[in-house]
Amino acid sequence: MTPPSLLAILTTDLVAMTRGRSVSADAQSWRTQGVGWVPANISLDPFGAIASPNPYGAAGDMRLLPDLDTEVHLTGIPGRPDLHFVLADITALDGTPWQCCPRSILRAALADLAAAGFQLDVSFEQEFSLPGDAPAHPPFSLQAHRTAEPFLSDLFAALDEAGTDPETILAEYGAQQFEVTTGPTHALAAADRAVVIREVARDLAAATGRRISFAPKLTPDGIGNGVHIHLSLRDATGHPVTYDPTQPGNLTAEAAAFAAGLVRHMAALCAFTAPSPVSYLRLTPHHWSAAYACIGERNREAAVRICPLPASARDPARSFNFEYRPADATANPHLALAVLVRAGLAGLRDKLPLPPLVNTDPADMTAAERAALGIVRLPDSLPSALAALKADAEVSGWFTPLFLETYFGLKKHEEALSAGDSATALCHRYSAAY
Ligand code: GLU
Ligand code: MG
Repeated sequence: MTPPSLLAILTTDLVAMTRGRSVSADAQSWRTQGVGWVPANISLDPFGAIASPNPYGAAGDMRLLPDLDTEVHLTGIPGRPDLHFVLADITALDGTPWQCCPRSILRAALADLAAAGFQLDVSFEQEFSLPGDAPAHPPFSLQAHRTAEPFLSDLFAALDEAGTDPETILAEYGAQQFEVTTGPTHALAAADRAVVIREVARDLAAATGRRISFAPKLTPDGIGNGVHIHLSLRDATGHPVTYDPTQPGNLTAEAAAFAAGLVRHMAALCAFTAPSPVSYLRLTPHHWSAAYACIGERNREAAVRICPLPASARDPARSFNFEYRPADATANPHLALAVLVRAGLAGLRDKLPLPPLVNTDPADMTAAERAALGIVRLPDSLPSALAALKADAEVSGWFTPLFLETYFGLKKHEEALSAGDSATALCHRYSAAY
């Protein structure tokens, strides 16, 4: 008798951990009913404890309701059964979306964007580390890449089979640091892909006896792992509306307003996009990780970077995009993208003009030069990001009181867990968890 094969029904939570329950893939009831879930799970920290106090305690019942479009079924992972899963929304028993479900929060933000007449194409560019004993090779070198084979080739193939449309895989600047990029797709699918990429990479690494970490920093002095979120707007008919070569930064008025919304709210956005104590070891000046809220062209120290196109680009209107850089893999991709969408929408609503284009490193300017351009330093710690969130009534207003109580409770608990840790201890703890 062949045992039933398992399919996991998964949600990615507020600390970007992907969790869920498995069922027999042959059973049918999960397709429509999902599986049970516990509300207090949304208050889990990255290290396995439920933050206390939390608004839920032992009470209540939710469902994980799968989105069948997200099914991933990978065969051939060495020594392991198929990796078979589907992403889900957290709902009430009657199937209505839960106010604390990150995927549902993104869906709602995208519905509001659609109501304003826009759609978004998105791609998450993710860096990760493969710590180990491999000899050090020069950054970006072929030999640095070859040292990580056959893992990188197997990962690329697995990501392709998983439908994530991988485009590039490369040895990055840091020792044992790599990056994978994928093609753009509609916003919800892009956030789903970010989850799929991490989980497939982790599964393959575990199967082949490698350590892998997407944590923002593995050592205090090492190179950070970023998650850059590339964005481009379309109108309601699907026509691209980001590129206007006659305008500053080559941005249309709409794209400029959207990007200006990101810049205006960025300090508070960091509470979601750089949401852990270790995130702030990465967001420091001169590390290409973006330490100041500003927009620039061809400037890797600009938090929003307008990405240039090669002269040979076949369809510039479609490929032109800008990237949000102060994000990392301790952020839930759905929640991070949801706040970018809402900040962009606020910029569109207020018809914000393009902020000054900053094409040098803001850290090399004097304080007076930065002030003249309206450039502010991003939060330098999780508590200051949470304070910025509290102070930004517009950003807090995007969430329900229950969500805010949950999120602040969880993040304060997470901060307290590492109080007194050295930077090295913090890096160890997060690199093991992520
Ligand atoms: N590793 C850098 C970061 O932390 C990004 C380097 C790059 O521009 O790709 O975001
Ligand atoms: Mg990179």
